[in-house]
Amino acid sequence: MASFIPPKRTLMGPGPSDVSPRVLEAMSRPTIGHLDPAFQTLMDEIKDLLRYAFKTENMLTFPVSAPGSAGMETCFANLIERGDKVVVCVNGVFGTRMVENVTRCGGEAIIVNDDWGTPVSIDKVSEALKANPDAKILAFVAAETSTGVASDTKSLCALALEHDCLNIVDAVTSLGGSELDVDGWGIDAIYSGSQKCLSCPPGISPVSFNERAVEKIKNRNTPVQSWFMDLNLVMGYWDGTGGRSYHHTAPVNAMYALHESLFILKEEGLENAWARHKKMSEKLREGFNAMGIKYLVDESCALPQLNSIIIPEHIVDEAAIRTKLLDDHNLEIGAGLGALAGKVWRVGLMGHSAREENVDKCLAAFKAVMN
Ligand SMILES: *Cc1c(COP(=O)(O)O)cnc(C)c1O
Repeated sequence: MASFIPPKRTLMGPGPSDVSPRVLEAMSRPTIGHLDPAFQTLMDEIKDLLRYAFKTENMLTFPVSAPGSAGMETCFANLIERGDKVVVCVNGVFGTRMVENVTRCGGEAIIVNDDWGTPVSIDKVSEALKANPDAKILAFVAAETSTGVASDTKSLCALALEHDCLNIVDAVTSLGGSELDVDGWGIDAIYSGSQKCLSCPPGISPVSFNERAVEKIKNRNTPVQSWFMDLNLVMGYWDGTGGRSYHHTAPVNAMYALHESLFILKEEGLENAWARHKKMSEKLREGFNAMGIKYLVDESCALPQLNSIIIPEHIVDEAAIRTKLLDDHNLEIGAGLGALAGKVWRVGLMGHSAREENVDKCLAAFKAVMN
């Protein structure tokens, strides 16, 4: 046994992404108590920075002390009551997880399926909402990391409102990487993750709920089944108005990291960060196209931060290529998930990974291993 020293990798998969040395340095600062007044200041700043990143004034905006999947469960567990009908859009792996969440919360999932690699169909969702006037919630993934598709979040939220439904939006891969406007688009409940375009180590899930969502949570007929995720209880810890009460122990050093990563995002400017992701993805696409590699997703709805490329037919062992990229070039990319396993590779350009040198390194590594 010895201390664990991780290899030096370049992370260009579906997350985690490369973490800035500034964030790693912040994380290694001395741990303080989670009820220390100084920690309260940190919590307040994190909430403010998250409101900036989400583009929201929502009071109930904070980081769940667990990964993106826990942010997902926090939304579903708090907003669904037994018997509630929920229209769920499935156009990739994370949509199927939403269905699982709805069912486990005792809700009834009305599933709207779209082909993997295409956006959620507004027409199909409209039909489903018309056919189910008693539906209470519309849930969908804004940026499907399993395929690299962006759906039209603004239109889907407007449609939900038209049918008197709350919306739940998965923005785990969106936040910090591509356009997202929580207040402007009328998003009611949203969750994200620390390790994608925020380029923070994994393990934290920023969430935000507007007044409509908070009303629903406060007026539930039954308590939230999960004690840990019950926002009525968590609010007393993260809200801070009227004194903070102990709920759980926040991962103190992970919060230093989140603060630094959000601070970096604010320094750059949100819109500049979106533009950088777009520019880097264009450069990557040019490089892959020049190598004759095709993309899964139409350019009009492709996410800049997650690029699904079709594995060329002459490649018989795609896993061996990924192993070679890792072993010879220290480059991590993602395999295809679910229905796309063995069909695509997923190349992430998230946060600190969305840089010129990464794009160059990635293209050079692919050229070397494909020959
Ligand atoms: C990564 C991801 C999740 C899950 O986040 P974890 O931090 O792995 O739990 C959920 N939804 C989407 C769209 C993701 O990309």
